Amino acid sequence: MGNFFLDNEDIQFQLGNLDLLKIAKQQEDRSRNGNADYVPDSPADAVDNYYKVLEIVGDIAANTLEPNAEAVDAEGHTLNDDGTVTLHPLVEENLKRCRQANLMGFTLPREFGGLNNPTTIYSVANELISRGDCSFMNIFGLQGNAETINAFASEEIRQKYVCDFAIGGATGAMALTEPDAGSDLQAVRLRAWQDENGQWYLNGVKRFITNGCGEILVTLARSEPDVADGRGLSVFVSRRCEQIRVRHLEEKLGIHGSPTCELVFNDAPAELIGERQRGLITYVMALMNGARLGIASQSVGVAEAAYRLARTYAASRCQFGVAIEQMPAVAEMVVDMQIAVESARALMYQTAFICDQENNNLRILEGGQCVDKAEEKERKSTARALKRVAGMLTPMGKYFCSEMANRVTYDCIQVLGGSGFIKDYPAERYYRDARITTIYEGTSQLQVLAAIRSVSSGIFASYVEQYESKTFDAALLDDLKTKLIGLREKTVEAATFAKSQASGYLDLSGRRIVDAAIHVIIGHYLLEQGAVNERKKRVARRFIEKGLPTALAGLEIVLSADASAIQEYELLAGPVPTVE
Ligand SMILES: Cc1cc2nc3c(=O)[nH]c(=O)nc-3n(C[C@H](O)[C@H](O)[C@H](O)COP(=O)(O)OP(=O)(O)OC[C@H]3O[C@@H](n4cnc5c(N)ncnc54)[C@H](O)[C@@H]3O)c2cc1C
Repeated sequence: MGNFFLDNEDIQFQLGNLDLLKIAKQQEDRSRNGNADYVPDSPADAVDNYYKVLEIVGDIAANTLEPNAEAVDAEGHTLNDDGTVTLHPLVEENLKRCRQANLMGFTLPREFGGLNNPTTIYSVANELISRGDCSFMNIFGLQGNAETINAFASEEIRQKYVCDFAIGGATGAMALTEPDAGSDLQAVRLRAWQDENGQWYLNGVKRFITNGCGEILVTLARSEPDVADGRGLSVFVSRRCEQIRVRHLEEKLGIHGSPTCELVFNDAPAELIGERQRGLITYVMALMNGARLGIASQSVGVAEAAYRLARTYAASRCQFGVAIEQMPAVAEMVVDMQIAVESARALMYQTAFICDQENNNLRILEGGQCVDKAEEKERKSTARALKRVAGMLTPMGKYFCSEMANRVTYDCIQVLGGSGFIKDYPAERYYRDARITTIYEGTSQLQVLAAIRSVSSGIFASYVEQYESKTFDAALLDDLKTKLIGLREKTVEAATFAKSQASGYLDLSGRRIVDAAIHVIIGHYLLEQGAVNERKKRVARRFIEKGLPTALAGLEIVLSADASAIQEYELLAGPVPTVE
């Protein structure tokens, strides 16, 4: 009996290095426990429970999801004539196991039957699930919808829907995208209208909706027909009903276990979440930030699976009379896969940890739980600072982890050679499954646009200050830190330069600047890990030194002011191909 939590030393190490007790102290808010059957005795007991629940997830991922994944990938789901979807029986089995283990209200308050786990623990769970079956994580991870309802809907609506997830094991869908509104959600057209009794109805089409056949849908719709931009949008919750039909199930490159639906809303009854017109600006942004962290976890999970397969194969496959791992070119691929996964994990865990602190601070403030004005003031300023950092790390995490998963799964196929390309091994599935991670929940280009603002506005430099002032006993770590300080200076210089150039240049340079900034941030995390673990010292050295020349070269390109890709677009890209 394998266990994807217990067999992973790096997860144990990185999780053990986080101050989970600090999170548990804030998270354990007794006013949100209702009549829960079980409540931890103390924050230490809560931390103990975090480990126990991850052990359960690790067991399900290894012994149910992973063995089921291949058949689910090959066979997919079925669209019925009546606009409903029958999930693959093995996906139903996966769901049943998760429901039996009470995992479907993972972060929800105990008053609604949830487990009240912090986002950090949820992120680890999503990683474990994704190692088992990347596509199933989409269904499991859509619990995020319940969090949005819990955070923003009226008490009446919360009571009505949130328990359905935690106790009823309902699955959800987040219906944002439309044929003409992908990255640009301000263009959403699906119409929300109200009858004379105040009842809302939804009319229109959504496409690419993961698990659109789920029981509870959170939908972005235009409630203000006269307001053309994002301020005309509100968010609604509906139950699956005959006025919402799945018109089409997408045939996809990967994640076949995750049904991707085109939905037609035909005057479907719905309830407004929160206030009108704050749909995109406030609620969807919060929902998507959580979902982006989920994709970062998904990426780390599938990359971990790919790394393990490559590591095992490279040790057992012999060519020229030796195991291929003895060939320098193969050894380097395997080493870099492992370092990529560990570095991405570091960024993902730190991001989740910051998000937990931000969320808990806000909850304490909103619940009026501060003992006096001084605490309130202090918490408000902490919450503002955390929000700025979370706003930087979340797109960075989604971007870095998803691009990493694509590289690692690509290299996994390369290590396996021809065997990687055929279906005898899951390498090709990992590769296909990983491909979507740089696209949904905002493409890599959109994540860079969000992150570059933090680098050019000074948030990045002030965030890493705390790490730059640390000193280490080991000379190697101090030396590496000096290199990171040099890279930070160059990154800020390049960002300032790009900002001073003509419009569009900062966007053009964004990826190179953000890559360098992420290298600095992860480098500091790895130095901290190196201070307490000998192997991690070597990991930090390889990560920092190997990536440094590439990061610096990217910044040199930025400083060269070459805008030819936009200035000479027609010439360089050539004419739009015409069909004779
Ligand atoms: C399998 C799958 C599952 C999905 N699940 C869901 C779901 O559950 N719910 C949901 O609402 N949506 C879902 N989506 C939709 C997904 O979020 C969008 O596909 C994604 O946001 C990109 O939108 P688009 O496909 O319209 O691409 P476009 O927005 O047309 O983008 C095309 C290209 O232009 C680039 N681009 C666009 N704008 C900019 C910009 N301002 N700056 C730089 N580059 C830019 C993009 O990066 C991309 O390279 C899913 C999609 C897929 C394929």
